[in-house]
Amino acid sequence: MIKEFKITNPEKIIYPNQKIKKIDVINYYLEVSAQMLPHIKERLLSVIRCHDGIDGERFFKKHVANDREVEAFNYNGKEFFYIKNQRQLLYQAQMGTIEFHPWGSKVKKINCPDVMVFDLDPDEDLSLNQLRDAVLCVKSVLDALSLKSYLKTSGGKGYHILVPFKKSSNWDSFYNFSKNIAQILEGKWQTLFTTNVRKAERKNKIFVDYLRNASGATCVAPYSLRAKDGAFISMPISWDSLHKVAPNEVNILNYKKYLNDSWRDYFITRQKIN
Ligand code: ATP
Ligand code: MN
Repeated sequence: MIKEFKITNPEKIIYPNQKIKKIDVINYYLEVSAQMLPHIKERLLSVIRCHDGIDGERFFKKHVANDREVEAFNYNGKEFFYIKNQRQLLYQAQMGTIEFHPWGSKVKKINCPDVMVFDLDPDEDLSLNQLRDAVLCVKSVLDALSLKSYLKTSGGKGYHILVPFKKSSNWDSFYNFSKNIAQILEGKWQTLFTTNVRKAERKNKIFVDYLRNASGATCVAPYSLRAKDGAFISMPISWDSLHKVAPNEVNILNYKKYLNDSWRDYFITRQKIN
């Protein structure tokens, strides 16, 4: 199956409660590689590695270090890494990578971000219905700006709304644009949203995390597994499924029935920030 490199410890348990093994993780990434790769290839990556499963020690890795099958990239005097094909994706899984977190720009245009993210982080007391209403508020503001947006589960507590751009000028204007949108949300629905990063200010509210849109920030990739109990996946879903699919519903055992083509236009949008 994967002829190019040896898979070590395929039977090692990664998710103890689901009895998911390392080989299951590798096979999962093999199966979604065609859909996932366009979202992560040629973007600098931070990855989360759990060599001994999700209950063991974990590493947040963003440098080449001892990896063989990666591409090195120098940015502002620091060395980062990216991958460019299926083989390199699977090599990451062989090396123990569970989560993939790409930058909002591609290495060829490292200073021109092209994926804007609104990460909705609900306070723990907030109901799922309130969260879903908030997601639709974000969509309505983006719709009013004629910006097409795409929805995914986070595989955790919230939803992520992505806005792909064909072109953008630079990180500062990109970031400021996302901040303006977050502030519009906060101004329009004051009881629902906050842009305040302080946890104490989030009581019964949703933190609109626009900080993902700064240079060097990341967001978990579409189709990435999460390194926590449940083996959840950050899954692209249609806007119509928002009320049907919970943030931590799709996982490595059930994902096939959730695969869909609602993001088919994602890579052909020609949106720009005016
Ligand atoms: P949830 O829905 O549970 O919030 P999430 O993936 O949105 O899941 P967050 O904690 O809100 O998790 O973080 C949002 C994103 O910020 C992550 O996907 C990750 O890419 C990035 N991130 C979070 N924590 C760190 C960290 N310590 N260092 C670097 N990046 C981080
Ligand atoms: Mn979040």
